[in-house]
Amino acid sequence: MSRKAVITIDGPAGSGKSTTARTLARNLGYTYLDTGAMYRAVTLSLMEKGMPIEESDDLEELLSSIHLDLRYIDGEQHTFLNDKDISREIRSVEVTRAVSSVAGLRSVRQYLVAEQRQIARKGGYVVDGRDAGSVIFPDAEFKFFLTASLEARAKRRQKDLAEQGVEIGLDELKMELHRRDEQDYSRLESPLVKPANAFEIDNSHLSVSEQVEIMEKRIKES
Ligand code: C5P
Repeated sequence: MSRKAVITIDGPAGSGKSTTARTLARNLGYTYLDTGAMYRAVTLSLMEKGMPIEESDDLEELLSSIHLDLRYIDGEQHTFLNDKDISREIRSVEVTRAVSSVAGLRSVRQYLVAEQRQIARKGGYVVDGRDAGSVIFPDAEFKFFLTASLEARAKRRQKDLAEQGVEIGLDELKMELHRRDEQDYSRLESPLVKPANAFEIDNSHLSVSEQVEIMEKRIKES
């Protein structure tokens, strides 16, 4: 691999995209672009302003006035909204509940996809999301699609939350993930799909390092 490529990783909630993308980016000397964080930032902005989740002139105005910025501190992506670091707030349970509805709005998607293309256009990025290989970068050099069983995904989410001091039962997490899957797979605007030419990996029984190894092998062999 000579020129720095764009590598996309798509998949449902909890399929391990962010950990995988972060590790792969670090190993390759690439930058990780977490597009979900950008949908979460717009969601937080709507919530802070008490705006309904629907297309409106107010939403258009909000999108043309907000300043969304990704900065890398010690190799970690931090999300800034109007110069404030909101990386923690966007992981809240409230934002997580609302984000898939916000991500279904056409104007939000158009705005964010344009930003995402601009950020990663020169290559050297590992981009994770729901539409990274299908819409943002359909010509990406490498595309991956990660899946895992609902059980495995809920267990991972439970572990992540426990590390943040949040205890949520497995059944509730399964329901939450299932609801988000339904919304992401069935929405009209850029639904979650396995992109054409994407290499699918079911990681229900794989560790992060095993999975990254499979991906790096595939990248190096082509
Ligand atoms: O990846 P993460 O779970 O943070 O994404 C939050 C939500 O944002 C997803 O459930 C999905 O609804 C939406 N999203 C999207 N397109 C992307 C990234 C995220 O629709 N590229």
